Amino acid sequence: MTIIGNKRTTDTIAAIATPLGKGGVAIVRISGPLATDIAKKILGKIPQARMSDYLPFYGQDNEVIDSGIAIYFPAPNSFTGEHILELQGHGGPVVIDMLLARVIALGARLAKPGEFSLRAYLNDKIDLVQAEAIADLIDSSSTQAARMATRSLQGDFSNRIQNTVDKLIKLRMYVEAAIDFPEEEIDFLSDSRVKDQLNELITELQQTLESARVGCVIQEGLKVVIAGPPNAGKSTLLNRLSGRESAIVTDIPGTTRDIIREFINVDGIPLHIIDTAGLRESADRVEQEGIRRAWHEIEQADLILYILDANDTQKDLDNSFIKRLGDAGPQITMVYNKIDLIQKTPLLEKSDTLTKVYISAQKGLGMEALRTHIKHYAGIQNAGEGQFMARRRHVDALEKSLSYIRTGQNQLQKFAAGELLAEELRQAQHLLGEITGEFTSNDLLGKIFSSFCIGK
Ligand code: GDP
Repeated sequence: MTIIGNKRTTDTIAAIATPLGKGGVAIVRISGPLATDIAKKILGKIPQARMSDYLPFYGQDNEVIDSGIAIYFPAPNSFTGEHILELQGHGGPVVIDMLLARVIALGARLAKPGEFSLRAYLNDKIDLVQAEAIADLIDSSSTQAARMATRSLQGDFSNRIQNTVDKLIKLRMYVEAAIDFPEEEIDFLSDSRVKDQLNELITELQQTLESARVGCVIQEGLKVVIAGPPNAGKSTLLNRLSGRESAIVTDIPGTTRDIIREFINVDGIPLHIIDTAGLRESADRVEQEGIRRAWHEIEQADLILYILDANDTQKDLDNSFIKRLGDAGPQITMVYNKIDLIQKTPLLEKSDTLTKVYISAQKGLGMEALRTHIKHYAGIQNAGEGQFMARRRHVDALEKSLSYIRTGQNQLQKFAAGELLAEELRQAQHLLGEITGEFTSNDLLGKIFSSFCIGK
């Protein structure tokens, strides 16, 4: 299908919109210009618009394949913006396949993953953020995620972006007018209006970015690395957090040779937990490989739980570890484990630079404090009403957009450079347009929609 340049699509697509397998009802969905012809042939008539009609579904030789509900949504008032016909039959895999085969024989073709949503987007029924929210709603792994995806689907996120874009356009017009008519009496660029509007834009974008970051954590999960010397209790902590026996717990140092990943859900936040191989110098080739991979994961993490044996006299954080991570590395939380052996009570100590948590992974002491800390770190304490779902690409675009506006503000303050400000604002607007899909590439669309399920 040609998608860009020619926003209209001409062929008719069809798919089973319900999950495979047996169920009460299964739905064949058809979208495109042939929907009415197909209705005439299968149902003997075009059902009244948007009214459910209980009808027999006829096969090629007028035999009845099934009977069920048919609903017809004429263009443009449908999900895709095209004519849509929905046939709701009995939920048996064979009977619904027969119905789909009949629809295909009548000229429709099988829809690709996400193609209905893609058409809805191309026909301006939804924007890209909303299309992504459909996939996120279907994939949501917690009630919180589902609620947030619904808000994005209803346009909460898109509206915020649109409001900011509207302000940006106004400001651009003002700034560009000032550049085009320098002989005007008033010096537009030095009046406080531009400065105020810039500040307002920055505050607004910052707020949206903050919310989007939380949305992104709920959508993609937080990558938490459990690191530390051998035998400190990394595997035990992983098991405790995930509530399963996934890592081998032994008291022989260096037994966790590979990276172990766990996907767990802490109060609605998906966590990708990675237990790393004991980070020590080793002559063993297999262990060395484990250590190399561990470093790769550590550098990519959102949060590191660096676990030490509280009982051990050498309980200071390994300096070479911090050095290797560098200043820009992920944030480290120190976890002092095995407090049961020293009769210490569970505790969370927070300073500006470092958080320390005292726990016993084996006995399950202090785990609630640790979980709460992880949630706070993810910014989830703010995830109340009004929070929407977002993705990494949205966060990236918002960050870049904000950075353009800040650069522009700088150009204005330092050099009174109106042209440069105008250019930065243009770039910022373009990036916001990429979020909602106003400006987009075929590659990005392919990437987004191919991850959808068929029939959506
Ligand atoms: P890793 O090498 O860092 O993954 O450490 P393990 O999780 O394999 O634990 C090493 C040893 O310490 C095992 O014998 C665990 O049972 C023990 N251990 C882990 N956590 C605790 C704890 O909280 N208290 C006590 N007493 N022992 C622990």
